[in-house]
Amino acid sequence: MTTQATQPQYRLEQKRNIRGEFPGPKSAELAARRAKVVAGGVASGVPVYVADADGGVIVDVDGNSFIDLGSGIAVTSVGASDPAVVDAVKAQVEHFTHTCFMVSPYEGYVAVAEKLAELTPGDHEKRSVLFNSGAEAVENAVKVARIATGRTAVVAFDHAYHGRTNLTMGLTAKANPYKSSPAGSFGPFAPEIYRVPMSYPFREEAEITGAQAAQRAITMIEKQIGGENVAAIIIEPIQGEGGFIVPAEGFLPALADWAKEKGVVFIADEVQAGFCRTGAWFASEHEGVIPDIITMAKGIAGGMPLSAITGRAELMDAVHAGGLGGTYGGNPVACAAALGAIQTMEELDLNARAKAIEAQVTERLSKLAGELGETGIIGEVRGRGAMLALEFVKPGTAATTKEPNAEATKAIAAQCLKEGVIILTCGTYGNVVRLLPPLVISDELLADALDVLEAAIRAAS
Ligand SMILES: *Cc1c(COP(=O)(O)O)cnc(C)c1O
Repeated sequence: MTTQATQPQYRLEQKRNIRGEFPGPKSAELAARRAKVVAGGVASGVPVYVADADGGVIVDVDGNSFIDLGSGIAVTSVGASDPAVVDAVKAQVEHFTHTCFMVSPYEGYVAVAEKLAELTPGDHEKRSVLFNSGAEAVENAVKVARIATGRTAVVAFDHAYHGRTNLTMGLTAKANPYKSSPAGSFGPFAPEIYRVPMSYPFREEAEITGAQAAQRAITMIEKQIGGENVAAIIIEPIQGEGGFIVPAEGFLPALADWAKEKGVVFIADEVQAGFCRTGAWFASEHEGVIPDIITMAKGIAGGMPLSAITGRAELMDAVHAGGLGGTYGGNPVACAAALGAIQTMEELDLNARAKAIEAQVTERLSKLAGELGETGIIGEVRGRGAMLALEFVKPGTAATTKEPNAEATKAIAAQCLKEGVIILTCGTYGNVVRLLPPLVISDELLADALDVLEAAIRAAS
């Protein structure tokens, strides 16, 4: 599209402003109330409670203003109170909040499905179903693949994250905290899930191309499962929770080609990477991969709970009427929000904005990595668009063992928070800082956040 992008409008002052020690008294009071009634299994990374959020800032109940480099885990790409989302939600709730699409349908659901058919890769005939969460989308993609193929096996990858429901816990690679801890396990997990190695360029023992890494996985699948038994392979084109791992070039296309040849459904889990996050509508596009089914959620609806799967019509329509659905799936308010959010992504050209963020951040961080040198704690700067990460290693090991440095990672995130910058960590080894700013963040605010991050990294080095 060549429409001239307009500029984001901010309601709150886009400034970092920490008024002394925090949590302040109001946050402390809420924390005390929470401790008595909220289950301990739900942990929060930040000790303050939110009063308002807009653009690139989150303001707490004591008036502190933080820079948001997390977007509520890649959700509020258009900001947490985007005017188009707010207006669409207001207009919808004044008419009806719910009827259940399976009982009495409405236009918003159809309009979202039309948009998904237009925006997802490939010009084949497509069908969509809407749900509430990313995990639910993944579960349903697997359901469709099993019915469509008449097979049961599902292949997932090392370092994968697909959610916290029973099937998706099984698909997720990392045990603690998602599946178990020394205190116990959430299992038993669903059967017929198989795991194969990912392409993780920074941690390969020897130089290996994307095509070779794909062959390593394919050989394992064919040897241990048999391609003819595989319903689907599911993969995040850029892995999220696992550490913002960008596979070597050629890895995804080779897997997709093999899947096509064997009649295996290729599911791209774009729950985190989709909707402009990586500088494209979907991360699969960077290598021209056309998934058979694509799962979407986080960025889709400006913060309202909505998820979707979009797939080839012949696969999706293989499922019997009544086989897919859910009470709240495709809620009309969430659909209205999605249409508003997508409108903002188009009007502000947030794909271009994500690329500009990539340029600004990688220039800064690559320079810093160069200064800290081969033996510094920055092992790698990677990612695409506004899905960027720093992997930290123990000093002196960068060029050799690449020993993960979870301590420094934690210290850096804590220092950033202290200075008023909210950043998230991730990674199988807990040694990755991930940057997921709202795509509407201003250059100035982002530069301020990077100053804080750079100082924290230097202090931890
Ligand atoms: C977050 C995430 C999920 C799970 O989404 P929920 O909405 O938390 O259920 C699934 N896949 C990927 C890639 C994710 O990042």
